[in-house]
Amino acid sequence: MSIMLFLEYFLTLSQLTLHGYCFIEMRFPWRPLALCCAAPGRRASSSVPEVIQSFVPASSTIDAHTLEQLQAFLSRATRLFVITGAGLSTESGIPDYRSEGVGLYARTDRRPMQYAEYIRSAKSRQRYWARNYMGWPQFSSHQPNSAHLALQQWEEQGKVHWLVTQNVDALHSKAGHQGLTELHGCAHRVLCLGCGAVSPREDLQKRFKALNPSWGAQAGGVAPDGDVFIEDEQVLHFRVPSCKDCGGILKPEVTFFGDTVNRRTVQFVHERLAESDAVLVAGSSLQVYSGYRFLLAAADQKIPVAILNIGSTRADHLAEFRVSARCGEVLSVIQPH
Ligand SMILES: [Zn+2]
Repeated sequence: MSIMLFLEYFLTLSQLTLHGYCFIEMRFPWRPLALCCAAPGRRASSSVPEVIQSFVPASSTIDAHTLEQLQAFLSRATRLFVITGAGLSTESGIPDYRSEGVGLYARTDRRPMQYAEYIRSAKSRQRYWARNYMGWPQFSSHQPNSAHLALQQWEEQGKVHWLVTQNVDALHSKAGHQGLTELHGCAHRVLCLGCGAVSPREDLQKRFKALNPSWGAQAGGVAPDGDVFIEDEQVLHFRVPSCKDCGGILKPEVTFFGDTVNRRTVQFVHERLAESDAVLVAGSSLQVYSGYRFLLAAADQKIPVAILNIGSTRADHLAEFRVSARCGEVLSVIQPH
């Protein structure tokens, strides 16, 4: 029986700063504010790239008034705290879990790896890494989109005080963002559960290749949309290396479901939030508590919140106002002063 694999499972990575991608050539110029010409409720599908149609839920085109409100909110902020989630990366071709119709929960019966299962079962780890190995070349090649690039520019202009992302795809780093906390870790790094050593995911890919020289050719290959097909039988023959130094179990440096975020990281983010004077949520429904807690803290400290996300969020009642639209479409046309 074939197993369909999805990019979410490729939670693996290499040291972010070691990537050799060229960001400068990718940088988009500021686009003129011309979004108000499309009728509300309709999507200008002819101008929406295929990747967006595949992974981004349909949304109304934002009107000029809402855009001006958001622009005014951001212009008032002098130390903006930004929280981003999967909705920011869907426009780079990485599917999320929860989006209606296009998220993995809606399209498939796939569910993320649970921390306890990963620790308990060598078989689960073997299956996890076999998929991860196959999907890595494509997953690691995703590039930041106009939303990541806009936020990086705002940081350069001194607008963004700190950015917290729940994504593990390294796209903010690839965009050149500096003041950044990856709340759930990063799939480009690998952690040894024995000695705590952290190494680039790219290095592990080489070890996989060396241990499984003919394995890749036998697997089913990558479908056009990035899915990977592997027979159960093939997974059984996949060899997984352990830590070179201590022989410990290797795991992507990513917070799996059922695991908890490091306390010091949470404390650090709370401190950055306390230094901020406005919060922008971009591309997250905030369903997971690890991100939602910062919205509760912002409300306690009376820090104003704006939310940019397609669909409702857990923190809607805490927001001064909210915008339901694609992050790239909105952030790339706003120029906060
Ligand atoms: Zn080790």
